[in-house]
Amino acid sequence: MKKHEIKIAFKEYDSLEELSATDLNLCNEAVKALATSHSPYSKFKVGVALLLKSGKILYASNQENVAYPSGLCAERVALFNWGANHANDPVVSMAVTAHTDEFELLKPVTSCGACLQVMAEVEKKQNSALKVLLYCIDGPVWVIDGVQSMMPFMFFEERLTQTV
Ligand SMILES: [Zn+2]
Repeated sequence: MKKHEIKIAFKEYDSLEELSATDLNLCNEAVKALATSHSPYSKFKVGVALLLKSGKILYASNQENVAYPSGLCAERVALFNWGANHANDPVVSMAVTAHTDEFELLKPVTSCGACLQVMAEVEKKQNSALKVLLYCIDGPVWVIDGVQSMMPFMFFEERLTQTV
């Protein structure tokens, strides 16, 4: 028997003001994206802003549907839009934030497993790390340099024929 241990690392900042100007700007853009959220069922708005290598910013938000499984998380709305329209312009970083009037958010909202898998494939497709900024509007910011740190067991076909 072999025991394996995997460590992940991320940075935590106490507030948005501690970020670089570029990261701060992207976070502020993600807040703007909250306005387009269609979330009448969960009442939980999620906003995303993607910074592309060219400097272009893409916006997305969660889109719900009365037939619940038909909705989609903001992260995947953003990344599928990127894949369909801007795939030759790599994603440098992604800011994700959330807001609800139902309760106070004290910690950054983390992406679901399905979104992490999609984020991982974007990294693989563009062959460069995707920096992820997760934050509360008036709270801490978590910065993750690459999706591998968030999901070390992500599914890739190649992995099936490799030893751990
Ligand atoms: Zn998700």
